[in-house]
Amino acid sequence: MAATTAERANYIIIHYLGMLTEHEMEALKHHRHPLKLRELPDGELRTKIYLRNQWLSDEPEILKQLDKGYVQFILNCAERILKDNPDKVYFNLCPVCRKLARTPDAKQCRFCGHDWH
Ligand SMILES: [Zn+2]
Repeated sequence: MAATTAERANYIIIHYLGMLTEHEMEALKHHRHPLKLRELPDGELRTKIYLRNQWLSDEPEILKQLDKGYVQFILNCAERILKDNPDKVYFNLCPVCRKLARTPDAKQCRFCGHDWH
């Protein structure tokens, strides 16, 4: 199979979120949380609450996954998901231009406009 692209990785993260491991999920949540949290007036308190609820992580093992940036992180997740669940991920490709549709059950191509309803 061709190397995973950022576009495919993003599609997998959005539509197959349940296939992430707990570790990957924590890193994802950590990334999505406002990075400037600590700079808010009550930032210290909020940071503690976020850490307690595991919306943020201070575990090196979680943070390490984001070392090379978010795109590399989702590429790694996507490749791992495809390796572990080769027949569960469905890439919905346009029958005409073969590009990836927005969702697994989309019936219209966002690139060429082809409609396969
Ligand atoms: Zn198309």
